[in-house]
Amino acid sequence: MWVDLLAQELLASSSGPHVVNDSKTPSGHVPVAHLRGVLMHDCVARALREAGTETTFLYGFDDYDPMDDLPPALPHYAQYMGMPFAAIPSPDGQAPSYGHYYAAEFADAFNRLGAHPAIYRTSDMYRAGRFDDGIRRALDQVDVIRTIYREVTHSKRIDAQWWPVQVLCERCGRIGTTAVTAWDGREVEYHCAPDHVAWARGCGYRGKRSPFGGGAKLLYRVEWPAKWAALGVTVEGAGKDHMTRGGTHDVARAVSAQVFGRPAPFAFAYEFLLYGGKKMSTSKAVGATASEILRVLRPELARFLIVRPVPRRQVEFDPAGDTIPNLYDEYDRAAAAYFGEAQNPDLVRTFHFARVASDPPRCYRPRFIKVAYLIQMPAVDTARAVARDKGSPLTDADREELTRRIADARRWLATYAPEQYTFTVRDTVPQGARLLTAGQRRYLARLADALEAGPGTADPVAPEGGTPTGHTPHVPRDDRHRGPGGSTSWTGEELHARLHALRAETGLTPREAFGAIYQAFLGKDSGPQAGWLLAALDGQFVLGRLREVARDAA
Ligand SMILES: [Zn+2]
Repeated sequence: MWVDLLAQELLASSSGPHVVNDSKTPSGHVPVAHLRGVLMHDCVARALREAGTETTFLYGFDDYDPMDDLPPALPHYAQYMGMPFAAIPSPDGQAPSYGHYYAAEFADAFNRLGAHPAIYRTSDMYRAGRFDDGIRRALDQVDVIRTIYREVTHSKRIDAQWWPVQVLCERCGRIGTTAVTAWDGREVEYHCAPDHVAWARGCGYRGKRSPFGGGAKLLYRVEWPAKWAALGVTVEGAGKDHMTRGGTHDVARAVSAQVFGRPAPFAFAYEFLLYGGKKMSTSKAVGATASEILRVLRPELARFLIVRPVPRRQVEFDPAGDTIPNLYDEYDRAAAAYFGEAQNPDLVRTFHFARVASDPPRCYRPRFIKVAYLIQMPAVDTARAVARDKGSPLTDADREELTRRIADARRWLATYAPEQYTFTVRDTVPQGARLLTAGQRRYLARLADALEAGPGTADPVAPEGGTPTGHTPHVPRDDRHRGPGGSTSWTGEELHARLHALRAETGLTPREAFGAIYQAFLGKDSGPQAGWLLAALDGQFVLGRLREVARDAA
């Protein structure tokens, strides 16, 4: 498991105490992609604590950053462009600021995923003077920083007019529109220029003020190392876009060493988390916000999805298709390993770090797809059917787990489940069943005969063509899987085997044979495993329907 390897490497470089940090600008609904960073840092912090290392886990909201992109849903916010998020009104009129509002939404999502870092805001830090030392160093050593920018980023725009701070305009309250023109060791002269940036218009004011106590903010690449120094950060990873050669992290590292006189924290790079095949940028994100993934997946599954892959592997999540049932199956495999039901040390650790809270109770975990089928069956008591699969009465923990799976399955069926997974058993013969071929009807008639004869009788119907079929495949009789149908005493597995044997005798393709069953009961060409479907239905109903559809052949 990557968390253990990373923690080992980290502890070999420093035994601690450790301060783990991650951060985000609350510029709008935070995209789901940013959950990866929070959860990776959370895993590392957990591993350090479990190793007995004193560890602080911090999460920062960079809400002194200026709004530089107009949220599409808030066109009337154009007036606030260039102001710090901490000074812009909240869209709900309730939260203290725009920054608070979106920070709270994101924090709620990662809290629900089991990450509980101590939260700080850069606006508070600036106003409290916690960046004053960083600002003074950055202004005093502007030449060093200009050289770093030129050498590391090869930027041609870094000239003698370039300064690594933005000043809060005393007239219009914007911070993104100002350019420093001089620094005398006490105050900065600045110009709130109308054309300093393309995305916001400065008011034209020229002034002189103290850059301390919130009067100015550092540019991102200098603010980052200033934050490391102010908070004593020892561990901080970043998305691969920050970790490219000559990128943000390279600049921050050089500034940390040369201006702040301290090495950069232990770093690790991680790949993107793509939702529905796209990496969503924060301000353009319309659908895939961090909270949305929790409308699609329960927290344990979302955390498992994000935490499981190694950092260098991209996480892709597209809720359509088989994704959710497959994810559930993988989660169940990890749970089985964790509870000692299967051998897989790596999955044991994966499940360990995927836990949202303390140990989840050990319980029976019915396959998600089976639950999804069961709840679509008329007159089937899902809990009873699951208890039969389990082989013993459900415990309280089993019931709680089943309730969650049923809720998840209902949501999935109503949203992302592909058409082949949804069905309704029809009360009357569906229209499509009237179009079956004579061969398909004969198949259904023989199936009815076989059902009536019962599972114990081998080949109750002599093959008409005289082909000796030998035997039905051996299926162990197992009452645990007995269908809930009542008068049929078949298990899904027995029925499945018999359906195949009968199909082979009649010479139909699997598509023709099973298609006939699906048409007769569901009015469509596909459905859940046919043997399992019939075993779950009432026996008399099944017989009656098969006979009725077969009779229409005449
Ligand atoms: Zn201004």
